[in-house]
Amino acid sequence: MRRLPVFFLLDCSESMVGDKLDKMQEAMNAIATVLRSNPYALETVYMSVIAFAGIAKTIAPLTELYSFYSPKLPLGSGTNLGLALDTLMNEIDRTVVKTTAEQKGDWKPFVFLITDGRSTDKTDVAISRWQAKYAKRATLIAISLGRNADFALLKKLTEYVIIYEEADKNEYTALIKWISDSTIAQSKSVGEGVENNPLPDLDGIALTMIKEPPINADEACVVLTGRCQKNKKPYLIKYERSQTKLSAGEYEVNISYYDLEGAFMIDEEYFRWSHTDLLAAKINTSLLSGVPSCPYCGNHSAFAACSCGKLTCTSGGKATCPWCEEKLFFDNEGSGDFDVGRSLG
Ligand SMILES: [Zn+2]
Ligand SMILES: [Zn+2]
Repeated sequence: MRRLPVFFLLDCSESMVGDKLDKMQEAMNAIATVLRSNPYALETVYMSVIAFAGIAKTIAPLTELYSFYSPKLPLGSGTNLGLALDTLMNEIDRTVVKTTAEQKGDWKPFVFLITDGRSTDKTDVAISRWQAKYAKRATLIAISLGRNADFALLKKLTEYVIIYEEADKNEYTALIKWISDSTIAQSKSVGEGVENNPLPDLDGIALTMIKEPPINADEACVVLTGRCQKNKKPYLIKYERSQTKLSAGEYEVNISYYDLEGAFMIDEEYFRWSHTDLLAAKINTSLLSGVPSCPYCGNHSAFAACSCGKLTCTSGGKATCPWCEEKLFFDNEGSGDFDVGRSLG
């Protein structure tokens, strides 16, 4: 039987922390459920999930639809798209059956690349490899969650670059529907022996195909890593960019700063999925608005900095840095603005 392989290449960088990542995992399972209810899809579609952050890995190998279940998506620092593409191409080589003189191979795979940020590694070599050997053998659809992706780069990969803007925050309803519709249309089409089928119309509200890459905005979020004073477990603090206009007489200035979204518990696996130069970039706390409490122990501030440059939680008084064991003392006055290491997003 000729299979229709469908690969999901999912950005699991830390800007996805919290609800977004959980919803993405639910979306994978929701897509599988919709596809299972269609007889064409049920007969041909095989699904696979490759996750990427600072590293890239196949977390669900190509599986028949009826037994597909998305594993927990990891979270890490970095958006190494070059690495992700290499992993995808190796996976295609390894699992997709080629057509030869003796046998009909699998149908042309569908690849849904879903990302919300800019690549943090070099992509030139991977893109050339894709263009030389895979672009004609697979249909790649790049979907940007919001407007922060590198559209010029995605355009080098594929003519199908789509922006998804959530109608209701953190729900992927329209996205699930469109991905399922595309896959069903393709499975019906290959069922009738036609391989090159146009993609179904976008819904125009949440999904837009881009023709020309728009100018990229600044980075949309700032993410910081800390550890709880009491149980030493790691957390992420996430800030989202907001803009405000200040008017002074005839002058108008655009000020960019970052508003607190929250502090989130994460597990140690985060560090395995992260880029190693985690603390290379710095941000000054004067640009950040709001201080979260510790997601583990409820200490008032999850934003106490050690001289090692890392964060812990405190409610004031004596503390030991969970990162470097340094003895610390925090008063409740705060120490003014300072630079902290931010991770790559
Ligand atoms: Zn704590
Ligand atoms: Zn320290």
